[in-house]
Amino acid sequence: MATVKADVAARPDAERVGRNDATFRAANERIEKSALAFEFGAERIPFICECADERCTTVIGLTFDEYESIRAVPTHFLNAPGHHVAGGPHVRVVEDRGRYAVVEKLGEAARIVAELDPRRR
Ligand SMILES: [Zn+2]
Repeated sequence: MATVKADVAARPDAERVGRNDATFRAANERIEKSALAFEFGAERIPFICECADERCTTVIGLTFDEYESIRAVPTHFLNAPGHHVAGGPHVRVVEDRGRYAVVEKLGEAARIVAELDPRRR
């Protein structure tokens, strides 16, 4: 892990982007689990925007299937429209779905979020 730490120190922004967004993703994992317990089914579940702005509290309603299609890729995140700009050069929009966008983490940020993915274990 020594090389990982050196990498992060050289690019603190990538780490901030990766760690912040992974925190929101972990919160959404819990929201999804509770929603399933209440049998939301095809209804929209209130998920939190997973952009890089740590003050962002935007809630986006997605069905279980919509959120799962994003979560299927460890480097893909749910963002409110336009919120990808907070991720700077560490992200890119892979799909604009109108109400929300699917945003991919790039480079070091991608490596960090993949490592922090709770479904990886
Ligand atoms: Zn946001």
